[in-house]
Parts: sequence; structure tokens; C-alpha cells
Amino acid sequence: MKIPEIYKTKKPVFSLEIFPPKRRTNMASLYKAVEQLAKCKPDFISVTYGAGGNMADNATCEIASNIKNTYGIESVAHLTCVNSTREDVQEMISRFQDADIENVMALRGDIVPGEDIKREFRHANELAIEIQRKSGEELEILGACYPEGHYQSESLESDIQNLKYKIGAGVRVLITQLFFDNNAFYEFLDLARSAGIMVPISAGIMPIVKASQIEKTVQLSGASLPHEFTAMISQYEYDPEGLYQAGIDYAVKQCRDLIEHGVDGVHLYTMNDPNVAIRVHEGIKDLLPDPQ
Ligand code: FAD
Repeated sequence: MKIPEIYKTKKPVFSLEIFPPKRRTNMASLYKAVEQLAKCKPDFISVTYGAGGNMADNATCEIASNIKNTYGIESVAHLTCVNSTREDVQEMISRFQDADIENVMALRGDIVPGEDIKREFRHANELAIEIQRKSGEELEILGACYPEGHYQSESLESDIQNLKYKIGAGVRVLITQLFFDNNAFYEFLDLARSAGIMVPISAGIMPIVKASQIEKTVQLSGASLPHEFTAMISQYEYDPEGLYQAGIDYAVKQCRDLIEHGVDGVHLYTMNDPNVAIRVHEGIKDLLPDPQ
């Protein structure tokens, strides 16, 4: 099913994100996680794409295809372009189509300073155009957005102006970068709608349940940290069980507030941990429409 169709019939859409394991030997445990995640009855699961653009050992296509064809859950395959040639991208689009995948998230990918990049594509909108052209508009395209602005943009306003290029290139659903302050999301949403961006926007939520995530994810994300969040981190930094529970409670509270404000969708960054996703889903399922 095409993802924009789901947004036409459901509010909020509930989706999950997973990433391919580093080693193929861990594929079985990823599929076990997918079986567990299926209990949340997600509307779709998206699968990230290695930032390096290395096609040879890229398992995104295989995983997204299995989610759809074996587990019966709609899937989205991410695709990055900054480190790929046009030929690479075209081959990956063909692979997606051969694997029956109907939805792709078009992404630029991060630029590592000093790294020799191919630069045939400079921005996600150029990739979206290529996906449309190559697939004969058969693939539906999703894209990323940033409630507090992308780290390379001069301002949130200019980032939103640039976001319009993606919409013009055929992106029909947006998913946000993680954030911890819902007010930042509401302000972004107002600005995006005033700029004429009317496609559904799902809020990307990452439950922070481990101290290791604080340094790796929270600090790198550049997301603003409301007092309630920093108080939680200071209270439970050295108490793993306490942090696990508090992190889930925080994410549940964030999601409930978003749903009560009429958000189009909630997209959980699961970090491949089904228990966290199941616990968050438990905390919000009374506010979700019945799965079809
Ligand atoms: P772009 O849309 O190209 O934007 C990048 C910067 O360029 C922004 O500052 C923007 O304002 C500016 N810009 C955009 N278009 C133009 C234009 N036409 N002209 C001038 N300036 C422009 N990374 C991965 O490696 N793999 C993944 O699977 C992955 N999944 C992600 C999923 C989500 C939901 C999100 C939010 C991010 C994901 N990322 C992933 C990270 C993403 O690749 C990085 O954030 C990257 O730095 C930007 O990607 P983008 O597609 O938003 O780029």
C-alpha cells in the first residue's frame, strides 16, 4: 500500500523505524525483533539505509521486502544519495521495485567533513526527482524534516523554504528528526503550514532509555532539551532501571500530548528494541485508531 493512502484514512498514523544489523549474522535477531514489533500493529515500518551508500552489503532492500511480504506490514525503504552515483541510485530503485517495495524515503545522507563524496546528487529533492523518473512514479516518496532546523541551515525559516523543493519533487509525507520539546514541533508545524507545506507530517520520537544514548543521540541530535527532560537525565543517569522506566514515561507523555494536539502521525525510533516500542505503544494505544 502507498503510505500517503494510510494518512488519508487514519489519524494518527503509528509507524516504527528500525535499522539493518551491522553483521549479517544478526539478521535472525532483527527478524525476531520485527515479530515482536508486529504486536504494536504499526501502520508501517521504515528501514534506514547505511550512510556510506555502500550497495554491496546493504540489507535495507531485503529487510523492507521481508517486512512487507513475509510479515504483512507495509514498509518504507530509506535511500541516501550523497555518496552514490546516479547509476548506483538507479540500480537500487530497480532492486526496490523487483522486491515489491512501494515506498521509499529519499534522503541526502550526512556529509562527513573531508570525506571524498561522489556529489552527483547534492540534495534529497534531486534524489526524489530521480526516483520518480526511474520508477515511472510507481514508488511513493517520503522525506525528512527538522522541527528545530537542519544543522547546516542558516535558520529554521530557510530550512523550511528548502523543504519546499522536496515537496515540489514529489515527496508526499514527511517524518521529523527526533525532538524532546513538543512546543518546538508545534512552532515548526505552524511555519511549515504557513509556507504552504500541506503534506502529512509525522513526529519522530525516540525514547531515551539508556545512559549511552544520552551522549550518542541526545547530544549529537542538537535537539533542545526542556527542563523536564534534563531533570529526568540528572535523576536517573546512574540508575539504569529508573532511566529505562522514566524514558518510556517521557516518550509516552510526549506522544499523548502530540496526539491530543491532532498530530498526523507518530513515528517511533525503536533502536531495534521491541520492548521499548511495545511499552510506548501500550501507553498510547487508547488514543490510536483501531488497526485495520
Ligand atoms: P536535504 O533535504 O538535502 O537537506 C540538507 C540541507 O540542505 C538542509 O540544510 C537543507 O535546508 C538544505 N537544502 C535542501 N534542499 C536544498 C536545495 N535544493 N538547495 C539548497 N539547499 C537545500 N541518514 C542516513 O544516512 N540513512 C537514513 O536512513 C536516514 N534516515 C533518516 C530519517 C529521518 C526521518 C531523518 C530526519 C533523517 C534521516 N537521516 C538518515 C539523516 C539525514 O540523511 C541527514 O539529516 C542529512 O544531513 C540530511 O538529509 P536530508 O534528506 O534532509 O537532506
